[in-house]
Amino acid sequence: LFSGRVDFLLSAPALKFLPDPVVPEVAFAGRSNVGKSSLLNAITGRKSLARTSVTPGRTQELNFFEVGGISGELPDFRLVDMPGYGYAKAPPKVVEQWKKLVREFLRGRVVLKRTLVLIDSRHGVKPPDLEMMEMLDGAAVGYRLVLTKADKVKASELAEVHAKVIAEARKHSAAYPEVMITSSETGLGIAEIRAAVLGDAEV
Ligand code: GDP
Repeated sequence: LFSGRVDFLLSAPALKFLPDPVVPEVAFAGRSNVGKSSLLNAITGRKSLARTSVTPGRTQELNFFEVGGISGELPDFRLVDMPGYGYAKAPPKVVEQWKKLVREFLRGRVVLKRTLVLIDSRHGVKPPDLEMMEMLDGAAVGYRLVLTKADKVKASELAEVHAKVIAEARKHSAAYPEVMITSSETGLGIAEIRAAVLGDAEV
């Protein structure tokens, strides 16, 4: 499916701008700079579908991309790029707006099949990730934890972080017990994550 159509649809700065909930959606979340844009580009095989962070923490929109189907008609499913969180310099007001938008989106989005929460292999699960996971648990939206930038750490370190993140996942009601390992740089885990996304979208 990713070899067919992948188009940017719209950016929604507030819920009233969301597209009609008519096809399945899979969302991507993670801290600013986690490698979300790079992973979206790697999954879709597009070089610059998602902008790689211009100014971290500034984009507060939900970005929608359409995958599959014929242009002008309904796609097979959509990818939702959620605004990056945990940016240290973000003003509290912006953080509050972000939380409100994301919480309401997660609670009310009936077509949202799954969320992928990206975790930097160098850092593991940080407090803002926990907050995101708790929002997802609360909204009962199933999610996968995905380690990014695996090429940046030694194998032993990666194994240690992986085990810790799996242990964290097991504490959360809506989290998958498996944790995927990826690198947009080397292509590690990209085919697997692509297959998982298609399975999650049920297409
Ligand atoms: P975003 O803010 O989450 O969208 O993160 P980006 O995709 O813009 O990536 C942030 C930085 O990390 C950029 O400089 C990327 O080139 C780099 N990066 C992203 N993914 C990887 C990866 O898998 N390996 C390495 N070594 N660098 C990566």
